Order: sequence, then structure tokens, then C-alpha cells
Amino acid sequence: MTDELNNLTEPEAVTANGGTSESGRLPFPVSPYVVDPAHCVCCGTCVALCPVKAIAMTELSAVIRGHCIECGTCESACPANAIHKNV
Ligand code: SF4
Ligand code: SF4
Repeated sequence: MTDELNNLTEPEAVTANGGTSESGRLPFPVSPYVVDPAHCVCCGTCVALCPVKAIAMTELSAVIRGHCIECGTCESACPANAIHKNV
């Protein structure tokens, strides 16, 4: 009986492990604007000016999330010229 239960639950464990990979798909939408972390000086200007709060600050750089409305404010305001359209 115990062996039968083990045989039934093993495929479920395999499925659960496989579910952590999404076949190369990103877990969030790609933003129309991107920050180049090599140029960002973490001044916070873009975070403060974004009208929809789409930009977050990390230890390395600002990061633009998926709900950007493409207003261009951050690109124009960045003193390090670190934000550009995602082409
Ligand atoms: S305004 Fe530019 S330098 Fe400042 S945090 Fe944003 S991306 Fe970085
Ligand atoms: S383009 Fe506008 S909406 Fe998009 S991240 Fe920059 S400031 Fe925010």
C-alpha cells in the first residue's frame, strides 16, 4: 500500500519541479523603456518623476516595471543619460 502511494505521488513532484520553469518566458512584461545599470548613478530622479510609479530603485540601478505609459519623462530627466527606449 505504501509503495502504491509513493508511485502515485512521484509524478506530482516531477510536475511541480517542472512548473518552476516557464520555457524561457519572462515572469513580467517587458517595459518600453529600460535603464542601463552601467550608467545609472542611483540618483532617484526618475523614481520621483514617473507619473505612474513604474520605476523602482535597486542596489544596482533604477528598474522600470511593465506598466510604463511611455511618457518619456524619465528619459529626459535622467542626468546620467541612462534611460532609453527598449528597441
Ligand atoms: S534618473 Fe537616471 S541616474 Fe537617476 S536613478 Fe534614474 S536611471 Fe539612475
Ligand atoms: S517613460 Fe514615463 S511612465 Fe515610463 S517609466 Fe519613464 S517616467 Fe515612467
